[in-house]
Amino acid sequence: METRFWDERIETLPQEELKDLQLERLKKLVCYVYEKNSGYKERFKSAGVKPSDIKKLEDLEKLPFLTKDDLRRYYPYDLVCVPMSEVLYIHASSGTTGKPVVATYTKEDLENWADLMARSLWAGGFRRDDVLHNAFGYGLFTGAHGHELGANKIGATVIPMGSGNTRRQLAVMRDFGATALAATPSYTLYMAEFAKELGLDPKKDFRIKFGFLGAEAWSDELKDKIEKTWGMRACEQYGLTEVIGPGVSFDCGMGDGLHISADHFLTEVVDPQTGAPLPLGKRGELVFTTLLKEAFPVIRFRTKDLAILTEERCECGRTLPRHSRILGRADDMIKVKGVILFPRQIEEAIMRVDGTTENYQVVKEQEVPLTTLRVLVEPTPERFGAGRLEELAEQISQEIYAMVSVHVDVEVVPPGSIPRSEGKAKRVTEAE
Ligand SMILES: [Zn+2]
Repeated sequence: METRFWDERIETLPQEELKDLQLERLKKLVCYVYEKNSGYKERFKSAGVKPSDIKKLEDLEKLPFLTKDDLRRYYPYDLVCVPMSEVLYIHASSGTTGKPVVATYTKEDLENWADLMARSLWAGGFRRDDVLHNAFGYGLFTGAHGHELGANKIGATVIPMGSGNTRRQLAVMRDFGATALAATPSYTLYMAEFAKELGLDPKKDFRIKFGFLGAEAWSDELKDKIEKTWGMRACEQYGLTEVIGPGVSFDCGMGDGLHISADHFLTEVVDPQTGAPLPLGKRGELVFTTLLKEAFPVIRFRTKDLAILTEERCECGRTLPRHSRILGRADDMIKVKGVILFPRQIEEAIMRVDGTTENYQVVKEQEVPLTTLRVLVEPTPERFGAGRLEELAEQISQEIYAMVSVHVDVEVVPPGSIPRSEGKAKRVTEAE
């Protein structure tokens, strides 16, 4: 009989048993990296810890954090724990802010990744008779490959479209009968906008039931708009190249956070400034330790993604811990007049105002010693045509103030004037 769980035993394992399993795997992991990799051995030594010091889950705190900068120092293969002849795939982050992070996978790693992705897609309702239109960029980026592996593991059909050429995307999506879409949230809405320009109705002319969306921090308002525009259920997918790619945590549809596949990933939340561990329920930076990866395990990787962790039982019946939706990346954090804010909060405020769209851009103007912000917003064509645009700008500015307690200048710009992205949206730019 079909159940709503992909792996019922693990997904409903009592928390105590889950923790026992994590501890058993953690103990093995620390011995494994210590033996297999001189970089890890050095790191343990300089922190004054031996694998035998890890006796309980809390002992994890004795181990040093691993940051993105650390990973760049080990570029490309210095943290790989298997001979390169055992590596089947290599992926990498985009490296827009420096050297990319290189992720390697053994056969076992790929099988585990496929299983984790199947678990994520299954939780969203995706089944064997579904057809996944995969609009994540193929290539070194993990997004497309991870979704393909998971959908194939379920036995469903994959359309390996890749990103770009929106007109052709839409034709393929419609003609090939796609029932699910994997893409970034911003591109999903852009596709709807493009479809409408072609005279198509995203709800009626397509058969999309679910969207598996990720790789960006997006507001609840944007999620709501995607669901209404496409008539789909938008399921958030979370993951990072450093940890495995997508498949770290998933949306069960209860609207109350994402379940972490805790049999594979041990999660901590720490103070983003001091690194001090925070208790459950406190907002902080997510830190992951991979428990089963062979080629490229990470121990205490600092994600810079801010969220809240909970172990409370979820309505869906899963016992796996959850994290809240990602509030923002520490990298996207903007400090204005001493206040810290995230593009996602600005997005939320904009979308609360009638007549606006999700097309906005935050322009940072560095006027030493102060940073000021200007926010460009595209209204709907109808609202733009109705005039009184200063009034609209003022309304948006007030809504942003209500959200973050900072006054920002809002400029209403003509529909279509803000550049669209076929991958991750670039919400923040520096003024020239
Ligand atoms: Zn749930």
